[in-house]
Amino acid sequence: MSNLTIQPFFWRPTNLFPEKRIVSKTYEGITSYTYGEFERRVRSLLGALNDQGLGPGDRIGTFGWNHHRHFETYFAAPLSGAQLHTINVMLGDDDVVHIVEDADDEILFVDPGEPFDRIERLWDDLPIEEVVVMADSVPDTGVDAITYDELIEETDPIVDAEFPDLEEEYSAGMCYTSGTTGRPKGVEYTQKMIYAHAMMVMSPAGLNIDETDVVMPVVPMFHVNSWEFPYAATMAGATQVYPGPSPDPADLLELIECEGVTMTAGVPTVWINLLEHVDEHGSDLSSLERIVVGGSAAPEGIMRRYEDEFDVTMEHAWGMTETMSIGSVSRPKSYMDDWDRSRKYEKRKKQGLLLPGLEMRVVDDDGDEVDWDGQSVGELWVRGPSVIEEYYNRPEANEEDFEGEWLKTGDIVCVDEDGYIEIVDRTNDVIKSGGEWISSIELENALMAHNDVVEAAVVGVPHERWQERPYACVVSADDSNPSEDELLAVLDDELDQPDWWFPDEIEKVESIPKTATGKFDKKALRDQIDVVLEDD
Ligand code: AMP
Repeated sequence: MSNLTIQPFFWRPTNLFPEKRIVSKTYEGITSYTYGEFERRVRSLLGALNDQGLGPGDRIGTFGWNHHRHFETYFAAPLSGAQLHTINVMLGDDDVVHIVEDADDEILFVDPGEPFDRIERLWDDLPIEEVVVMADSVPDTGVDAITYDELIEETDPIVDAEFPDLEEEYSAGMCYTSGTTGRPKGVEYTQKMIYAHAMMVMSPAGLNIDETDVVMPVVPMFHVNSWEFPYAATMAGATQVYPGPSPDPADLLELIECEGVTMTAGVPTVWINLLEHVDEHGSDLSSLERIVVGGSAAPEGIMRRYEDEFDVTMEHAWGMTETMSIGSVSRPKSYMDDWDRSRKYEKRKKQGLLLPGLEMRVVDDDGDEVDWDGQSVGELWVRGPSVIEEYYNRPEANEEDFEGEWLKTGDIVCVDEDGYIEIVDRTNDVIKSGGEWISSIELENALMAHNDVVEAAVVGVPHERWQERPYACVVSADDSNPSEDELLAVLDDELDQPDWWFPDEIEKVESIPKTATGKFDKKALRDQIDVVLEDD
């Protein structure tokens, strides 16, 4: 039997769907080509990597957004036997330097514009000798850089007979976790892991991607392999649309309308912003069938609006860098078909059912498994072919975060009788008040059930008597200003919890600080609030 590698992912669309298209927004404009042309370019890039002696054991860093050149590196790097290391362009300078050093990248593929400016600024601190600019020209610079297009046009394409033999245990991908606390940790994916996870994502129980789809991954290619879309959608032979550098709602709408996008994916903020834009300017979302939303909890109000107003189904998914992104999706099961809509939403707004191939345990503080009864709470542990069993270079984290092949996710969950996971908190983000636990995420979800609340984040702040109390920061919709009484009333309506659960303070803010991957940055928020509460 042959190895489980990404080689057949490259073979299938280039042989079976050579005329299907890949559309890409770049710094130069919108461009489009076929899988046939994609094949030629990947083979040329593979030739260029070979010429440079890059192959098994080497890391190839990328620092850029979602476009066709970056997509080509997703194939050429692992097909050469090397490892593709995608670096998050939203991270601060120190973290970027740390990551490039830690990973020991041999070469960097960098977007022009802001990403390139940063690399130029950090050049003296980076242990890198060569930069390829993912564009058709190189900015005027002191950095030793060549253009991507020059690189591949000067090289003879590699033919099948020259393809390197790949082993399924070769390291093929690498990402760093978002680093809400401490330095980002490296997470490595083997060829076999990518094979397994792309199959899981493509399957009907995953995201059900097939060649009829026109897929637009908005989730950045520097964030957990863009949730595996570049591999799963390619293997499926789907039409793909890459929306380019930091796309705004107008860019996304234009691509949805012009390219007939059927399926897209990204964090909730993207879909909240898109709705606001649509409210103001109108739109045609008629081609769109599904939005995969994850990375943070999907607000039910937003899910309902897409469904009611645009007939678009939002599928709520959960995952982590350590699980190669998507690990669960929430859809009602077939025996729920005749349930009413609200009852189905009770399931759909949860993080959902594990993808095939994964197994889970829910473990309490004493290390015992808790029941799936919709009430008992514990930490989610997962294992499977797409779950890492260690971090790169981090023995202390490996000691803490794994139990054999089980990954301790740090997510505190409650699983119901039907097997649906609901995240109620994170191990590092629970609020302990007078010895009792309060879930910041449940408070946030309840506040976000108020029609005028766009975002709500709750953190624990020090309290003289109770050690910690919840403090809420709320961003309200334009022209609205919900009163504290209204917000407390919505908490009362939504939560079946005692009064001491409710936040001591509800502060109205313009925005909530976010991490580089768009999640609430609770550490920054705590620093920003910086109070010690006292008794009233
Ligand atoms: P990252 O590794 O940066 O992707 O972060 C993974 C973490 O994000 C998970 O452990 C969860 O805490 C959180 N997360 C991911 N998806 C969801 C979701 N759908 N709902 C709530 N939290 C989520």
